[in-house]
Amino acid sequence: MAKAELTLNGKKVSFTPGQTILEVCQQNGVEVPTLCHLAGTTPTGACRMCLVEVKGARTLVASCAMPAGDGQVIETESEKVLIARKLNVELLLASGHHNCLTCEANGDCKLQALAYQYGVESVRFEKSDRYYPTEDDNPFIVRDFSRCILCGRCVQACNEVQVNRAIGFGYRGTEAKIVTAGDQPYINSDCVFCGECVQACPVGALTEKKARGKGRSWETRKIRTTCPYCGVGCQMWLHVKDNQVVKVTGVEDAAPNYGRLCVKGRFGYDFVQSPERLTTPLIKVRGKFKQATWDEALDLVAAKIKAARKEKGANAVAGLTSARVTNEDNYLFQKLMRVGVGTNNVDHCARL
Ligand code: SF4
Ligand code: SF4
Ligand code: SF4
Repeated sequence: MAKAELTLNGKKVSFTPGQTILEVCQQNGVEVPTLCHLAGTTPTGACRMCLVEVKGARTLVASCAMPAGDGQVIETESEKVLIARKLNVELLLASGHHNCLTCEANGDCKLQALAYQYGVESVRFEKSDRYYPTEDDNPFIVRDFSRCILCGRCVQACNEVQVNRAIGFGYRGTEAKIVTAGDQPYINSDCVFCGECVQACPVGALTEKKARGKGRSWETRKIRTTCPYCGVGCQMWLHVKDNQVVKVTGVEDAAPNYGRLCVKGRFGYDFVQSPERLTTPLIKVRGKFKQATWDEALDLVAAKIKAARKEKGANAVAGLTSARVTNEDNYLFQKLMRVGVGTNNVDHCARL
């Protein structure tokens, strides 16, 4: 497609018609702050943090929603822009009740980071008199709308990314709030607890229930791994403190899931630390399991397979493997069954 040209902070840059000003900034390494922008979804221009100055325009424009135009002259850090962004941070802080000291998002909150970046030391506006009770009557997600900035990222994550359509904007004006159908708690709604809205929330309005109080973001290590549940192979971060998994999030820039996870992958990690996990093989003796060494267990399995094969032929033996092991392990298992045992009776739990 033919390229067009604009001037960005005094420098000529080219772009592809159809790109937004924000995209042009990002592709040229020009940082523009955002709160509501969720890559890959429809721009909403809700938070007004990405305001920039376009020469000739009557007002500052939201760069996430404004198409770049040939010949535009754009300033992203002019005095007007910086004053407006600082004002927006103040307005967002005044619209809710923010106590960073006790907030679960402290250290991992975009609003807090922007308040610091734009030097907001006090808020000039009267605080909202609206308080919302915290909703935590489900096992996975805590909703605290006193900290919600109505950016709408959760709505886009639910409706456009996961396509669950469980939440939307409800009420109007100062009453506006993110709601499920009938403004029910998540537990009584169409929510499937995929947690995508939590991952998208830039502040402490949506948080993982099991992670609360388990450690600040700077106290945890992030370890990348593959989800152990099904064969899709979603990429995830384990947030680990003191060798314990305190939270799981999706890896946003990697296939196949690009940040998305299902309820099992995101919240079903308790088994990792379960004291009930098997740590040695078990052999059933007179109806009861007893602990065994790997040599004992493998010798027994080999003897049973040999006996079954001798008595009824190789096709009397079947092998079932698991989506929780790696492709390489599954490959070796089918090889063992076909070449070692001599049967094609081999299957996998993800097909059942
Ligand atoms: S949501 Fe962010 S700004 Fe608000 S209290 Fe929590 S950390 Fe502070
Ligand atoms: S947990 Fe998933 S389904 Fe439920 S509201 Fe959030 S994004 Fe929608
Ligand atoms: S709950 Fe979070 S993501 Fe949703 S609108 Fe409020 S601040 Fe934005």
